[in-house]
Amino acid sequence: MPGKTWDENEIERLRELLAQGLSASEMQIGSRTPAAIQNKAARLNFVGDGISRKPWSRDDRGLLRRLVREGQTAAQIASAPNLLLGYSRNSIQKKLGRMSLADRVRSRRARGVIRLTTQQLERFHTFLLAHAARCTPEQIALLWSQDNLPPVSRRRVVYHLQKLEVKRSWAEVMQMPYSKAKQRRVSKKATSSRQRRWAAYRKNQEDGLKDLARRRRRASRSRGKSLSERVCRDCHSRWPATEPFFVIYSKVTSSGQHRYVGRICRMCRNRRRRESKARRGPVTV
Ligand SMILES: [Zn+2]
Repeated sequence: MPGKTWDENEIERLRELLAQGLSASEMQIGSRTPAAIQNKAARLNFVGDGISRKPWSRDDRGLLRRLVREGQTAAQIASAPNLLLGYSRNSIQKKLGRMSLADRVRSRRARGVIRLTTQQLERFHTFLLAHAARCTPEQIALLWSQDNLPPVSRRRVVYHLQKLEVKRSWAEVMQMPYSKAKQRRVSKKATSSRQRRWAAYRKNQEDGLKDLARRRRRASRSRGKSLSERVCRDCHSRWPATEPFFVIYSKVTSSGQHRYVGRICRMCRNRRRRESKARRGPVTV
């Protein structure tokens, strides 16, 4: 038997109470019974605890599938206006699970999360507010996890900093001592690996030149000729006085073109070039 029709005020009250997270049995709307409240909420397509949902239509399922393929999360879909109207984040997430569309990685991560109790959360937020200005999220996560439970990840710290609206910009975070120390460590590591690569390259180059010099000397000996050699002014090593052991310069003067052998060997010349480049600016190998 149909009861008294709902007036605007009652519908508005129903909307408010649902938004507060109350279930129908906890609501007081005139003399409406919990069942009546539930039915009315379902007919109005309201979302709430214990309110029965209309079954998913083929169109809605198709739309959901498309949105997920575009990379949207259940929370994003639920909060987007004019998309899947009347579905809560939770109902969308459940539907994704039933349609085997749930993101496995996100689901596993969500399952693995240890929730903070109310007291833990309160302490965590106090901790965040105390550290947000001077510490990077990574550092805060480390500091908290040192002597507090449960251990938190950098990602979780960022989430709560955003929620508390105290998250610092990337530029600000980069200026923090922790970030600077990290940058120094990284650049030191990069420098030493660059030096190792350069040393290996040099060794390789020198071995090649030595090998070539040996073959040239042997060849000239077998022809009974002596090979013109030259001592490097810098490293005092002896090389054949030709390319590629030395650089051959040519100079045009009034008496014609003159060729002369450089004073320092190829290895020393390369080293000098590199050193002068390093003085001018950062070296990229
Ligand atoms: Zn030399």
